[in-house]
Amino acid sequence: VAEQRRLTGWGRSTATVATVETPASADEVAELLTRAPARGVVPRGLGRAYGDAALNAGGMVIDLRALRAVDYAGLEHDGTIRAEAGASLHAILVESVPRGWFVPVAPGTRQVTIGGAIAADVHGKDHHQAGSFMTHVQELTLATPAGIQVIGPESSLFAATFGGMGLTGVVLEAVLRMLPILSSRVVVDTDRAGDLDGALALMVEGASEHPYAVAWIDCMARGGSLGRAVVTRGRWAVPAELDTTAARDPLAFGPRARLAVPPLMPANFVSRPAALAFNELWFRKAPRERRGQIQSLSAFFHPLDALHGWNAVYGPRGFLQYQMVVPLEADEVLRQVIALLAARRLPSALSVLKRLGAASGGHLSFPVAGWTLAVDVSAGARGLGATLSACDELVAGCGGRVYLVKDARLRSEIVHTMYPRLEEWREIRGACDPDGIFASDQARRLRLVPASAT
Ligand SMILES: Cc1cc2nc3c(=O)[nH]c(=O)nc-3n(C[C@H](O)[C@H](O)[C@H](O)COP(=O)(O)OP(=O)(O)OC[C@H]3O[C@@H](n4cnc5c(N)ncnc54)[C@H](O)[C@@H]3O)c2cc1C
Repeated sequence: VAEQRRLTGWGRSTATVATVETPASADEVAELLTRAPARGVVPRGLGRAYGDAALNAGGMVIDLRALRAVDYAGLEHDGTIRAEAGASLHAILVESVPRGWFVPVAPGTRQVTIGGAIAADVHGKDHHQAGSFMTHVQELTLATPAGIQVIGPESSLFAATFGGMGLTGVVLEAVLRMLPILSSRVVVDTDRAGDLDGALALMVEGASEHPYAVAWIDCMARGGSLGRAVVTRGRWAVPAELDTTAARDPLAFGPRARLAVPPLMPANFVSRPAALAFNELWFRKAPRERRGQIQSLSAFFHPLDALHGWNAVYGPRGFLQYQMVVPLEADEVLRQVIALLAARRLPSALSVLKRLGAASGGHLSFPVAGWTLAVDVSAGARGLGATLSACDELVAGCGGRVYLVKDARLRSEIVHTMYPRLEEWREIRGACDPDGIFASDQARRLRLVPASAT
């Protein structure tokens, strides 16, 4: 059923109207591609992209959420599942965790579809060891204007689709290798780091023992406290480490959204003084050094999922997430970016720093070996545009890049520098979409696709 709808990204900073189609089968998706409107077509999952990647003003948006069947039979043979594109990581975990299997890559929310995870080639807190989503997918079924095709890692279209922002075709299903686990709990070490050097050192220390590492970083602290952080590192617990109650059901998994955030709280909730006070409180309340705390997997991997509708706290203007990566050897640029954000007093709370490992091979895939910083800022913050553009220059200048699935404001001129394989990607894309039917608001803004769909 087609419906005209106003859609936004997760940051709610831009909204556009499109015709939303909700196909119930792969054949229906293929049929929709035969009648793409002049403004083109973009697939959409759970709408967790922060900016305009899954929007298509005046065109068609294909909502894949009805295609969500998952076959778990492969788990017993080779640890794989076959999932339709609209299945969420949440739904998969509800079934797979009690059987002893976790998703091989866990982004900061479970509310992500398989199609969205592929189109962004998502990474988790263990990217330096596990790689991105592409590393764990054996096979893809993709609908393009040429028809439905099954492709594997040897195909250039496969690599172009991971990180390809839904512009190479509609993912219909994928075969994914899962990660075996013995419990649903994580053993967590927490440390406070007084400055950026301390945080980076902790993120690298003992990485083989603790595959998962993340730092919540205060991007408003200045001077000697620049980059102060709370670093958490984790590894899967074995049943022998659990207390008697937990040990009775070591693979228990029953996460619930516990707290609802009131809709449209006043925008001054994220004012400068409020954000400063929040960061101070959050840093002070963290333990200086705590070892071996047992946490549920949802508390460790997806703390924000417990806050239903938290993206409304930024008020009616919404917010942006700025996520960039700089190569490991360019940690000085990371410091410069944090110093710039702090000097301009952009109100940001709970920014996140992670270490990324080797790139996956996806042409527009975000991860490169380096440091990635993600900062949430109210879209109405004073001086935001100029500050982030200055950050873009620093990041692009050292071989770094901004994450497209978080982006809502990058300039098209800088994308070539950040994504040097863009031309190669365009050629592969053009061959499977000669009439240029795939388009999105982001694709037009960044000139990723030819101008025909504008
Ligand atoms: C709280 C939060 C934490 C996050 N943490 C992380 C993190 O740690 N690491 C990380 O990498 N990302 C993270 N993300 C980003 C998230 O993983 C991506 O935005 C992901 O793409 C969202 O999936 P979705 O199903 O909501 O897709 P949507 O937002 O609906 O779409 C995103 C993109 O995927 C494309 N797409 C969707 N479905 C298909 C399909 N079937 N075929 C082809 N293309 C498709 C769309 O066209 C669009 O370009 C986080 C997001 C949030 C809100």
